[in-house]
Amino acid sequence: MARADYEVVIGLEVHCQLATATKMFSGCAYSIGDEPNTQIDAYTLGLPGTLPVPNRAAVEHALRLALAVGCEIPPLSRWARKHYFYPDLPKGYQITQADQPYALGGAIEIPDHDQPDDPLATRRVPLLRIHMEEDAGKNTHAGEYSLIDYNRAGAPLVEIVSLPALRSAAEAADYVRELRTIVRYLGISAANMEQGTLRCDANVSLRPVGATALGTRCEIKNLNSFKFIEAAINAEIRRQVDLLDAGEAVIQSTMSYDPGRDQTKVMRTKEAAADYRYFPEPDMPPLSIDAAWIAAAKASLPALPWARRRALVQLGLSAYDAGVLTADHELADYFDAALAACNDPSLAKVVCNWVTGELLKLLKTDHAEGLDDGDNTGGRLAGCPVSPAALAELIGHVEAGTISGRAAKQVLAKIFAEPGQSPAQIIERDGYRQVSDQAAITQMVREIVNAHPQQLEQLLAGKAKVRGFFVGQVMRVSKGQANPQVVQQALEAVLEQLAKTQEP
Ligand code: ADP
Ligand code: MG
Repeated sequence: MARADYEVVIGLEVHCQLATATKMFSGCAYSIGDEPNTQIDAYTLGLPGTLPVPNRAAVEHALRLALAVGCEIPPLSRWARKHYFYPDLPKGYQITQADQPYALGGAIEIPDHDQPDDPLATRRVPLLRIHMEEDAGKNTHAGEYSLIDYNRAGAPLVEIVSLPALRSAAEAADYVRELRTIVRYLGISAANMEQGTLRCDANVSLRPVGATALGTRCEIKNLNSFKFIEAAINAEIRRQVDLLDAGEAVIQSTMSYDPGRDQTKVMRTKEAAADYRYFPEPDMPPLSIDAAWIAAAKASLPALPWARRRALVQLGLSAYDAGVLTADHELADYFDAALAACNDPSLAKVVCNWVTGELLKLLKTDHAEGLDDGDNTGGRLAGCPVSPAALAELIGHVEAGTISGRAAKQVLAKIFAEPGQSPAQIIERDGYRQVSDQAAITQMVREIVNAHPQQLEQLLAGKAKVRGFFVGQVMRVSKGQANPQVVQQALEAVLEQLAKTQEP
């Protein structure tokens, strides 16, 4: 069968590390990027006699995520031990949630490319569940020896498990992108794939088009960039198509992706799968999340990406612009604040162009180092030397004709170089004020026209191109400060007068 005869079915398991001051089950401090093995306590090391206590802030974060994506929250959920032996797991088991997770159902909305007429159309990818657990430490294999860092051991995680409802590698990447945006809007995680605060395992299977039963799945582990999510899933689809076409069966396996070869390879098959010996965690009672807690968490939810996109489109922005502005909630907040400060909703497109164009460009050059996959606009905006109000002021000067658009770009760049200066201060100090004074410009035009009789003759003889020469001369003489529109009008008027006086 050809590739087109198979339907692709994908389900994702995404781990997201929650941004809390302390770990999931102990008061041990945790933050990313610290010296290895400096954020450990007796519990982290699994010393005898230590007991787990759930971190309220982590549960709160997890709860807000579940509510944001429409999960149902059972009144009680249970902790479970998942046993395995590995150097990064000092206790010998991980505390997770097995058959009674804290959140069931829900969905992530992804762009629906089947409806090209409606760029805001979405497709709901239903979730199976979300559960909380603790992270393991981190091994670094350095040739002959391995290094281990226990800082991450015990860090709080949520695992978001989708139903097998994604249909392509591109949809899978869209799903993870939406999920990342949501958790960042909620402020519950840095959700950075490079740093491992967002990690993805992809389950892939094929079935003949039209079949209802699911095919045998393989699970690709540890996909740590959007590029690899797509590439690995596509590689796995190719592998399975080849197997099925050769009359062989897909064997349920755990796969790894080799970017160098652009291939997935089998790590272990189901027969060799670990038996984790799950059992209920005896050191903690069930977790109770009551109606009052749910109501309070619900009330704390911010407007989420799709709602903000739709609101921006209602302001008259294109779906594309709305998508760019809402990719980071900080950027969307900045835009909203700048537009509000403009006091004129009809300026939405103008403000959007300034924010997504000039401002982002300056922010990028300002922070040229340490960029992750181009996705951390929010972090860069945090140190932006131009406040939304200052940008609105600048736009106001352009709209009022006080300065030209070109001058405004220079003024913006200067505020970046000299934070604290207001647009008005720089416009006055550096002489950006545009001359719109009709009389003054007309006088300039007359002088230039008189000084260039030859060009004037050409123009009056119908050589329209020479018009540009005169406008250019006025701009030069005015040091770029003449309002080009007024110059055009003045030139028109002067020429008309001349034509009249030359008539017999
Ligand atoms: P496990 O915990 O053993 O990995 P789950 O039933 O929790 O198994 O499923 C894990 C993930 O695999 C889920 O995201 C689910 O949607 C996905 N999945 C299950 N069956 C298939 C399949 N046949 N094809 C693709 N994905 C699947
Ligand atoms: Mg799994």
